[in-house]
Amino acid sequence: MNQPPVAIIGAGIAGLTAAHYLRQQGVPFVLFEASKQVAGMAASFKDPDGFSYDFGAHFITNRLAAAIGVESKCRDVAYYGESVLVNGGTYSYPFGLMAVPRYLASAVKSKLAGAGEAPTARAWFRQVYGWALADEVALPLVEAWSGAPADLLSPAVGNKVSNSIPYTLYLKAMSRMKGVAVPCGYSHEMPEIAKVWHVYPEGGVATLCHKLGEPVLDAIRMESPVEQIYVENGRAVAVKAAGVERRVSAVISTAPVPVLGKMVNGTSALVPFTRFRYRGMIFVNLRLEGRGYLCDTVLWTPRNGRSYFRLTETMQSMPWLAPEGKTLLTVDIGAQPGDEHWKMSDEELGALCIRQLDDLLPGITSKYLGCRVLRTATAYPVFLNEYEADRQALARSTGVENLLSIGRHGEFAHILMEDIYWRTLAKTRGLVQWLAAVRTPIAA
Ligand SMILES: Cc1cc2nc3c(=O)[nH]c(=O)nc-3n(C[C@H](O)[C@H](O)[C@H](O)COP(=O)(O)OP(=O)(O)OC[C@H]3O[C@@H](n4cnc5c(N)ncnc54)[C@H](O)[C@@H]3O)c2cc1C
Repeated sequence: MNQPPVAIIGAGIAGLTAAHYLRQQGVPFVLFEASKQVAGMAASFKDPDGFSYDFGAHFITNRLAAAIGVESKCRDVAYYGESVLVNGGTYSYPFGLMAVPRYLASAVKSKLAGAGEAPTARAWFRQVYGWALADEVALPLVEAWSGAPADLLSPAVGNKVSNSIPYTLYLKAMSRMKGVAVPCGYSHEMPEIAKVWHVYPEGGVATLCHKLGEPVLDAIRMESPVEQIYVENGRAVAVKAAGVERRVSAVISTAPVPVLGKMVNGTSALVPFTRFRYRGMIFVNLRLEGRGYLCDTVLWTPRNGRSYFRLTETMQSMPWLAPEGKTLLTVDIGAQPGDEHWKMSDEELGALCIRQLDDLLPGITSKYLGCRVLRTATAYPVFLNEYEADRQALARSTGVENLLSIGRHGEFAHILMEDIYWRTLAKTRGLVQWLAAVRTPIAA
C-alpha cells in the first residue's frame, strides 16, 4: 500500500476490468478517463422515440455476463445470422456460399494444389477460400472494411476464421436445436461450446461497464486525459493527466497504441507503434417504419458500387431494441476524418443511404423516419504488412516492463468484449505478480 498507484488509462471494458481486478487484489490505482462517461466503445443510448443504439458492441455471451455478474439482467438472443449479397443472389454465410458449385470447385482446387506460407492477405484468402470466393466476396469486403488493398495487408487478417467446417456445422446445429444464438468465431480465448450463447443486457451493453465500474468509482477521474507517460531506466515512473504529474508504480493503457507511442517520454521502444493505422467508420442508423427489411441480421454487400459494404438489422436478433412495428437499419460506411463522407452532416448521410438503398429495398424512402449517426476514427486496426513485424512485437510486450497496452485499441487487435475481458485479467494478473516481485526481491 506504500507504493504509488498504478495508472489505468481509459474506462472502457478493458480499463474497468483491470481496475476491478486490482481492487480485488488490494493494489492501489487511479483510472483516468478522457471523456465524460465510462464504457468507451461499449456505450449504449436510448432516444426519446424508444430506439436503442449500442456504439460498437451489440451482444455478449452468457459466459461473460456471468463472469461480470449481470447474467440475471440479460435476455437470450434466439437467432443471429449473416448473409452475403453477390451477383444479385443472397447466400447464407458460410454454408450457402459453400454450396455454390463455382465457389466449392475453386476452394477444392486450391486445397488440392497446396501452397507455402501466404505473404499477403490476398494470397491467404485465395489459398484458403479458393480464387472465386476470395475474388468475388472475401477480398472486396476486406478491402472495403480496412480501406487498403489486400496486397498491402498481412495474412494475419484471416486469423479470425478459427473453427473447422465440421465444428462450425455442429455449433450451428446446436444453435438451432436449443433456440439460442451459439457464437461461432466470436471467442478466441475461451472455447466456443453449445452451452455458451449470445445474450443482450437490459439497458444495453454499457451495463457491463457500469457493473464493473460500481465498486471502483472512487478511483475514477473523469475528463482527465493522460497526456504524458514518463519512463526512466526502462520503467514507467510517472504520468501527466489533465495537466497534473504524479508518480506511478505501473501503467495500464487502453488508448490507441499509436497515441500511446506518442505519449511516452524517456524511451524509443514504442516509436515503431506510432505508424499503426486504424480504419474509421460511420454507422448510419436509419429509423424505419416496418420490420424485416433484410433476410438476415447482417447482410454483406461486396462490390456493390455504393458507399456502404454492410447492412445490419439488429431487430432480427433483438426485436426489443426498437418500438413495435419499427426497425433500425445500420449502414456501415468506411471513412476517415476529413474525407467526403466524414464531412457530410447526419441528415446528408441519412439521405445518401436511403437513395443508395432504394433499388435493393424498394419503397424504403416512404418508410424513412430519420437517422442517428455514430462516427469513430478507430473502428478497426489495419494490419498493413509494412508494420507486421512491429505488430507481432507489440503482442509480446510494449518494450517497457511495467507498461501494459491492453484492450481492442491497446492491443491493436480485432477482438470482442469477451476476449478483452479474459486477456485483460491474465495480463493484469501478470502485472500484479511483477509488482509483488519488485517490492519483495527474492533473497539471493
Ligand atoms: C462495429 C463494431 C461492432 C462491435 N460489435 C461487438 C459485439 O457485438 N460484441 C462484442 O463483444 N464486441 C463488439 N465490438 C467490440 C467492442 O465494442 C470493443 O472491443 C470494446 O468495447 C473495446 O473496449 P476497450 O476498453 O478495449 O476500448 P474502448 O471502449 O475504446 O475504451 C477506451 C477508453 O479509453 C479512453 N481514452 C483514450 N485515450 C485516453 C487518454 N489519453 N486518457 C484517458 N482516457 C483515454 C477512451 O475515451 C475510452 O473510454 C464491436 C466493435 C465495433 C467497432
